[in-house]
Amino acid sequence: MLTNLQTRDVETLIHPYTNLVAIRETGPLILERGQGVWVHDVDGKPYLEGMAGLWCTALGYGNEELVEAASTQMRKLPFTHIFGGKSHDPAIELAEKLKEMAPVPISKVFFTCSGSEANDTQMKLVWYMNNALGRPNKKKIIARMRGYHGVTIASASLTGLAGNHNSFDLPIAGIRHTTSPHHYRLAEPGETEEDFATRLAADLEALILAEGPETVAAFIAEPVMGAGGVIVPPKSYYPKIQDVLKKYDVFFIGDEVITGFGRLGTAFGSEAMEMKPDSMSVAKALSSAYQPIGAVMIPEAMYQAVASESAERGNFGHGFTYSGHPVAAAVALKTLEIYERENIFERVRAKIPQFEARCAALEDHPLVGEARRKGLVAGIEIVADKKTKRQFDPKLGLAAKVVAFAQAEGLIVRNVFGDAVTICPPLVISPAEIDELFDRLTRALDRTLDWATQQNLLAA
Ligand code: PLP
Repeated sequence: MLTNLQTRDVETLIHPYTNLVAIRETGPLILERGQGVWVHDVDGKPYLEGMAGLWCTALGYGNEELVEAASTQMRKLPFTHIFGGKSHDPAIELAEKLKEMAPVPISKVFFTCSGSEANDTQMKLVWYMNNALGRPNKKKIIARMRGYHGVTIASASLTGLAGNHNSFDLPIAGIRHTTSPHHYRLAEPGETEEDFATRLAADLEALILAEGPETVAAFIAEPVMGAGGVIVPPKSYYPKIQDVLKKYDVFFIGDEVITGFGRLGTAFGSEAMEMKPDSMSVAKALSSAYQPIGAVMIPEAMYQAVASESAERGNFGHGFTYSGHPVAAAVALKTLEIYERENIFERVRAKIPQFEARCAALEDHPLVGEARRKGLVAGIEIVADKKTKRQFDPKLGLAAKVVAFAQAEGLIVRNVFGDAVTICPPLVISPAEIDELFDRLTRALDRTLDWATQQNLLAA
């Protein structure tokens, strides 16, 4: 029986990433307020936000400094654009700060309102650059199966998940997907992580050669895959991949939308994964999600090519009304100031051993095949049989069951492709709250196990 507010919701809203028929029966969970790592629903029930919203509210809820930064900027200058030679202080300062923080040489910053727009922009910049460089055929982009890069037409095409392509007539032309770096599922029997990484680099090389290196412009990767199930590549994966990219002059786009700003215990995920991208996309934790803002950070050589093409054409014909929105930029600047002042990344590093140990312990649970983890992010893969790694029929939605039981236990987590439950708490989570998160998740797994046993779903 839906409440009045739930009824009004399902009568009016299309919810992203939702079964739009099923929600008419269940109604949504309607949240009202938050403080720290906790959010409260309209009935006042508290939930530990184990996903930092959507991998983004890094500083948690109720951060008054961010509220103040937004309201101060709104009073001063709520909006001005940066098209056609206009600018404003917050955008300038934020671009300077991002350049200073970047782990690879970055020359210029382009602002967007989301991660999807950032990755769309990356593709357009690569195409624009290659036209400027007189390589009009070098336009294909290689992404990876299970990679997630967003939902606009171009970024959804980069995303390597069927759910983002089916019935949307995607991917568009010129996008290829190479093997996912998922050792647990894709390694040959007895294949070491090192050998697996070598094979994946060979796969990539074979794909580039089959397409023709003169047609392959760029490769895009998240340091650690997020929405694809939190997949942590083998240690030597990126160095091997990078050798292939260099060999064929393929530009490397780093998608740091989840891993940017401390998630893996380093400012950027690239640093934790020995990844050396040419350009980077960031969003989410850039403003701790208090304002929608993303950015594309590009190297000097790309900038030179893009700038000369814009001079040739008379204009760089790309930009969003809200690119570098002053309120979003002011909030992002304050967020970065807090990360630095409060040593947030260092404090994340101190919490990682506890988080990883609690995560690893879940592998003893009868339903858990693999508890993948890196920094403060994890993906718990649910299996029917641990020995054979057999999964449940996806229609049964086991990970979704875990999420529902977790919600009943006052914990918000998420289920994603591959029957995995993801965890990505605010970076400010305390050690006691980390224990609380895993205690609640363990209870949710136990309740799911009871349910699966009652339904006779488990291996004999
Ligand atoms: N890239 C990655 C790695 C992401 O995880 C996401 C969103 O989860 C995106 C891009 C898309 O960002 P947005 O949802 O802000 O468009």
